[in-house]
Amino acid sequence: MASRADVANDIANRRGFFWPSFEIYGGVGGFYDYGPLGVLLKDNIVDKWRRTFVLPYQDLIVEIESPIIMPRVVFEASGHLEHFTDFIIECTSCGRRYRADQLIEEEMSRRGLKVRVEGLGEDEMMRLIREHGIRCPACGGGLDNIRRFNLLFQTFIGPYSDNIGYLRPETAQGMFVAFKRVAGLMGRRPPFGVAQIGKVARNEISPRQGLIRLREFSQMEIEMFIDPQQPRCPLIGEAESYEVNIVSEDMAARGMEEPVTVTVREAVERGIVVNEWMGFFLALSQKFMEELGVPRDSQKFMAKLPHERAHYSTQTFDHLVYTERFGWIEVSGHAYRGDYDLRRHGVYSGEELILDRRLEQPRIVEERRLYPNPGKIREVYGDRVGEVIRRIDENRDALLEGLTSADMVKLGDITVTRDMVIVRSEKRKVEVEHYVPHVVEPSFGIDRIVYVALEYAVRMESGRNFLAFPPEIAPLKVAVLPIVRRDVYIGIARDIFRSLSMAGIRAAYDDDGSIGHRYLKFDEVGTPLAITVDERTPRDGTVTVRDRDTRIQIRIPVDKAVDIVRAVISGRNIVELARAAGYEVVAQR
Ligand code: AMP
Repeated sequence: MASRADVANDIANRRGFFWPSFEIYGGVGGFYDYGPLGVLLKDNIVDKWRRTFVLPYQDLIVEIESPIIMPRVVFEASGHLEHFTDFIIECTSCGRRYRADQLIEEEMSRRGLKVRVEGLGEDEMMRLIREHGIRCPACGGGLDNIRRFNLLFQTFIGPYSDNIGYLRPETAQGMFVAFKRVAGLMGRRPPFGVAQIGKVARNEISPRQGLIRLREFSQMEIEMFIDPQQPRCPLIGEAESYEVNIVSEDMAARGMEEPVTVTVREAVERGIVVNEWMGFFLALSQKFMEELGVPRDSQKFMAKLPHERAHYSTQTFDHLVYTERFGWIEVSGHAYRGDYDLRRHGVYSGEELILDRRLEQPRIVEERRLYPNPGKIREVYGDRVGEVIRRIDENRDALLEGLTSADMVKLGDITVTRDMVIVRSEKRKVEVEHYVPHVVEPSFGIDRIVYVALEYAVRMESGRNFLAFPPEIAPLKVAVLPIVRRDVYIGIARDIFRSLSMAGIRAAYDDDGSIGHRYLKFDEVGTPLAITVDERTPRDGTVTVRDRDTRIQIRIPVDKAVDIVRAVISGRNIVELARAAGYEVVAQR
């Protein structure tokens, strides 16, 4: 019997949800096109994400959009030029190149050995290769030394070959670089978050897993900026009783992969998650995937060990979902990025990427201050006194320092001596201090979620395989079908189709083939409803509405079509709707 994954793949392929890009030229690994239904599914998932992560918290989290191509300095500052690498290994005879950890894991598992290679260093990997006599899987040749391969795609900005740019490998950097602007717009009062949804590119060494590992893909990310001294999450109340399956860092260090189920409150109290924000986002992410059709038991959060974490992170959880086809895959990553990114961009840009914190107890600080002494200056510089005062003013700090150790300091052609300035010790009340905010980041890969939603939607019944998408993410919400192709039915069906389209509802019109065949065709791609214009419609102005999952039909007045479809998209069940409105429930076909 076909597996759910086979059915998902078959439907996706035949019905054009997605396909390998550049097919007519033989394709290039790691690039996929989305077809008409795929685009709708993907958009609905993005929309659902916005309604889960941004909309309910729109007073705290705002969305921006920044470029995909970014100048070199951004990735110098972010550390990606140095650290965003995978290990690559080359066959000395055929020249094929492999991602070293992948190759080792695959070769070991062919021998029935399970090893976790992620995060191992080159020496350790080389040792495994030698110890187990691993050779090139394609030609059996020897494998050369491992080296690092940077995953950034490089390009040139404008006509100068020294003006190097890179395609962003995460949307995050655009948000850090725009921090100053957004902080200003948010009143500089943390916590506040920035969200971004968009394309990213990573030059993966050998992507072979369809939508799971792409060279160009889309992400949905949030950078939540918090004061590390006030890391409380005002939204935690919504999430604290929520149960999550978690493999803590301690458990991961002991090689455990089976999660424990704890409430978010417990995870915070026991220090499994670094703070409430981390716990909040884990809960929200699990809820998001549940509402896309993935039961809680098929989800877990796995802590990454220090050597497995990205260079910017001090705590990371991979949000894993079990798939039939690929086993456990990461759909989102949750990283505590600390102050790493803003601190680095602050240093590289020379800008202050900071916020102010009001001190509970104002501090009195004593400072030495320097003022010009006009009388003395005039004695030496006569009419140039104004100019000299200005120069002294502009160079206060340098003069304060210089004149403590020397009797005079030169400012161009002006010589400032000690008697030309007055230095006073002054007390100042400090009520605020500066700090670099910390960042909690949930980061989702959209394409993987599209695959997961598809696999989990598969239902296999005798006589039909179909996708039982939750209505809110179904690509098409309704099909409008005249029972047979006759003008009187076609006219009415077209009118219904038009009114649904005008109401912004994704719908299809189809009059080709038997009605039973058409139902199956729309069930297959997950269309929750089918409206049929039948013999009774011209007589009494009613149509049937068929439910994809139960095949139950109800009969409604034509002018209620838009309302019914909207109600089902928002989660209502048609039998319930029929009962409430007194509509006839017709037996299933
Ligand atoms: P990362 O920054 O590596 O944690 O990636 C964030 C999210 O992007 C992951 O949780 C995945 O869902 C997704 N992702 C990462 N790499 C790829 C890829 N090569 N293809 C598709 N999605 C990816």
